[in-house]
Amino acid sequence: MSEPSQRTHRTASILSIGDELVIGQSLDTNSKWLSSRLTDLGVRVVEHATVSDEPDLLRAAFERLVSGVDLVLATGGLGPTADDLTRDVLCDCMDDELVRDDRQHERLVELFRRRGRPLENGNDRQALRPASAVCMDNDQGTAPGIAATLNDVDVYLLPGPPHENRPMFERFVVPRLRTDPKRAITTRLIRHYGIPESNAAVALGDLLDRDRIERGLPLVGITASDGVITTRLRHEGDPADASALLDETDRLVGERIGRFRISPEPGEPPSDEDLVELTVRALKRAGHGLLTAESCTGGMIGEAVTGVSGSSSVYHGGWVTYSNEHKAAHLGIEQSLLKQHGAVSRPAAEAMARGAIDRSPAVFGPDGARPRHALAVTGIAGPDGGTPEKPVGTVWIARASEGCGAVEVESRRFVFPGDRDTIRRRTVGTALAMLLLRLRKKPIERLLWEID
Ligand code: AMP
Ligand code: MG
Repeated sequence: MSEPSQRTHRTASILSIGDELVIGQSLDTNSKWLSSRLTDLGVRVVEHATVSDEPDLLRAAFERLVSGVDLVLATGGLGPTADDLTRDVLCDCMDDELVRDDRQHERLVELFRRRGRPLENGNDRQALRPASAVCMDNDQGTAPGIAATLNDVDVYLLPGPPHENRPMFERFVVPRLRTDPKRAITTRLIRHYGIPESNAAVALGDLLDRDRIERGLPLVGITASDGVITTRLRHEGDPADASALLDETDRLVGERIGRFRISPEPGEPPSDEDLVELTVRALKRAGHGLLTAESCTGGMIGEAVTGVSGSSSVYHGGWVTYSNEHKAAHLGIEQSLLKQHGAVSRPAAEAMARGAIDRSPAVFGPDGARPRHALAVTGIAGPDGGTPEKPVGTVWIARASEGCGAVEVESRRFVFPGDRDTIRRRTVGTALAMLLLRLRKKPIERLLWEID
């Protein structure tokens, strides 16, 4: 039997439990969500562990995790079936005995009565808890959560389904957290485009030192995704100092790679918007519209843009023209042009972008017809279809933009590395980046993966 812990929750580990997770059948999204919430709340998450529903492994995981942190959150294995053993194993670790929680038992009886079924076949096991633990109500499903203490460390068992554990975390775990008000984790994201990750790392130099956090300075980390370099500044300490310290580190990052910055813009508040959200917001602010003409991405640019809420005020529509016949019939591209240069060529990409503008009705805003931009992409996503002159990954991206009565066209050729999915994803990101850089009036001579 154990007494409730009183220790401050500075660090936490997250344990995800389930055979389906370790064999690759489902993705562990609980750890990501819980970590992000704990970070917001000032608790530093130091480890994610994932184990199968194997009692010995589960026991070893609980014992190891509680030896290193102030708080352990576990999800999964609270179901009614024989392989759902999380509560039994934790109880065993605690040297406690399982008892029936009368309130939860009544709740389950009532729940099943309303479903027209008796409480049986293991569902009654869900009302069991270690004698020294307490149950947490589940408003969204059958399994109650369990709040326990193991080796003076608070351990919360939450059900596996996200729609059940998220409200339970907010309602029961958050109010029980004992965080130090003088210690908060504050992060700031700075996005860059057009610089390779390794060049960014060299330029940032000593700003990437991991011991900065011990010196009370924000830690700087870099991640790269489809051409976007995200610099993450993380301050841990008195929240009253965070803003000034982050501003100073932000300024130093700007001195070194500011030329490539796409967000936040000078004078703007920090935001965690990604490339698509930034592009939609930039279009909105300019009052401009967007059209798409896609070949190798099959509509992925339109899909990405329409995934942002509020995109209807900027995205007018587009075409997926995969075959030459469709490019000719719907975007008005001369068959002779396609024959002469091929569908993957500068003339084809530019004609697609112009065709999208020519064939779209004007859209009027409060100040008259809105200037429109069209993004067109045509390329070879592979794995087949490459030639020595046009290897797999070759993509032409054209941007056509209306303004002052004329249409200005920019087109670039890229050879994206990677498999079919990666090439298509990088095409989407790069097309959006070309538009964003134009909207921001940021000329970058050569983009990542661009070939002259
Ligand atoms: P449980 O019966 O408590 O083991 O939970 C079972 C269900 O919860 C699984 O079928 C999944 O759909 C979901 N689930 C369990 N663990 C996770 C996790 N780490 N991330 C996302 N979903 C999960
Ligand atoms: Mg399970």
